[in-house]
Amino acid sequence: MRRPVFAANWKMNNGPTAARAFIAAFAARWAPRDDRSVIFFPPALAVSAVVHALGSRTDLAVGVQNIWTEDKGAFSGENSAPIAKDAGARFVLVGHSERRHVFGETNAETARKCAASARNGLTPILCVGELLTQREAGETNDVVLKQLHVGLGRLTPDIVSSMAIAYEPVWAIGTGKTATPDDAANVHAVLRHALRGVVGVASESIPILYGGSVSAANAGALLAATGVDGLLVGGASLEVESWLVICAAG
Ligand code: PEP
Repeated sequence: MRRPVFAANWKMNNGPTAARAFIAAFAARWAPRDDRSVIFFPPALAVSAVVHALGSRTDLAVGVQNIWTEDKGAFSGENSAPIAKDAGARFVLVGHSERRHVFGETNAETARKCAASARNGLTPILCVGELLTQREAGETNDVVLKQLHVGLGRLTPDIVSSMAIAYEPVWAIGTGKTATPDDAANVHAVLRHALRGVVGVASESIPILYGGSVSAANAGALLAATGVDGLLVGGASLEVESWLVICAAG
């Protein structure tokens, strides 16, 4: 059985001061549990603050929301995988819908970002998901499968079987519109089948997270959906109270 993953994507919220306060409040009320993983994705400038605030809490991990495809060089304003690793990150969100649809990130770039994460010892979490128009046109499976196959295209089977995937329908992110547990289960089944095709039985270790307007009220039902191995949460991870409830779900 896969260990559920609860990932907090803080987007462009919680600078170092607020991040330290959040971690202190959360860690004081969250006892280590070996039946689940909790990962924080603060803004890059707050990663070090979160790492220091966590101190000896190795049960709580930190990641970055994005990296550039290259390890170093003249890319002003970008962050690289080696810099993220040096700052204490262990995970990288790759291909989040805001990267794809606000910043124009392509599937080919997500493949290079997954590769950059892997060659620097960071674990990529590849995000896939369809737009509302694509959903309405019946293209959901085609869209997420293309994102998956291209995104994984530069990785070895060992890396693929040690990473995670997040299904985040774009129309559900930050909109308050959540996919039903059945919607999530259907797409997760498609992704699980595709992962088997890529790495065979080793794919059983890959958690597939759901994300999109997850809240304290709906986390339990989404997590109970067949094939949902964890939750990637934006807005509701910004409140200590709701994040505690979500992390305890299931
Ligand atoms: C996200 O940022 O990945 C996300 C799912 O956001 P929200 O939970 O706010 O929809």
